[in-house]
Amino acid sequence: MSPEPSSSDRLLAVDRLVKRFGGFRALDGVSFALGAGEVLGLVGPNGSGKTTCINTISGLYPPDGGAVRFAGQTLGGLPPHRRARLGINRTFQSPRPFASLTVRQNVALAAAYGRRHGADAGPADIAALLAELELDGLAERRAEDLNSAQQKQLDLARALATRPRLLLVDELAAGLNPAELARMAERLAALAGGGMALLVVEHLLGFLDRLTDRVIVMNAGREIFEGTLSEATRDGEVVRVFLGGEHVG
Ligand code: ADP
Ligand code: MG
Repeated sequence: MSPEPSSSDRLLAVDRLVKRFGGFRALDGVSFALGAGEVLGLVGPNGSGKTTCINTISGLYPPDGGAVRFAGQTLGGLPPHRRARLGINRTFQSPRPFASLTVRQNVALAAAYGRRHGADAGPADIAALLAELELDGLAERRAEDLNSAQQKQLDLARALATRPRLLLVDELAAGLNPAELARMAERLAALAGGGMALLVVEHLLGFLDRLTDRVIVMNAGREIFEGTLSEATRDGEVVRVFLGGEHVG
């Protein structure tokens, strides 16, 4: 049997990440690693730092301490579009597409701005992506005319247009109906099956359960648990945090 790879050999290695807002530590020393084709769930009560974690890994916020290593490179203060070109992209908890641009224009713009080095581009490619995400019938509609489920699909299309190797997913399942949830879970599982690494922030544990068994639980900017989802639901501290905090669905 080959030895476990050390965390620095993995596609993503987050090491003691700290993010402060004023004197408040939204991330207080978070560490984990993720390899190609793996799905890691990130759960925790509202305000525990999940979105801040995604914002810091994607380059929206420079970290105040610790490091993010991706494909062997320490990312430092590299901005989001440069990270996208290296192969990191994300979806947003509240998608904000360019409202007056069409679906196709939004996706094309993302591709032009952040496509990974060496990944091919082109209109055919974007058309294929829109079809895959069931957005082909909406391609010429303005983003502001989409409903919230369609905006989530667009946000995912925008992220995928850059051909990421690591996709950070922030509450993509919220607001989807059961059929949409099932298709979204299949879609994310297929991406991981194709070798993409996924960090999935999600309140809907049933959705997460279809994608992965491995989760990190956060509370107040710290990781309080790492293990399987079923172990997490039986862990005393995890249960206390969820029962004492806000409802997590
Ligand atoms: P979660 O996604 O787990 O609900 P967040 O990462 O959004 O939590 O927020 C973690 C904490 O950091 C919260 O207390 C939030 O108010 C605070 N926070 C997040 N972003 C900012 C910001 N840009 N400025 C100030 N405080 C922030
Ligand atoms: Mg959040």
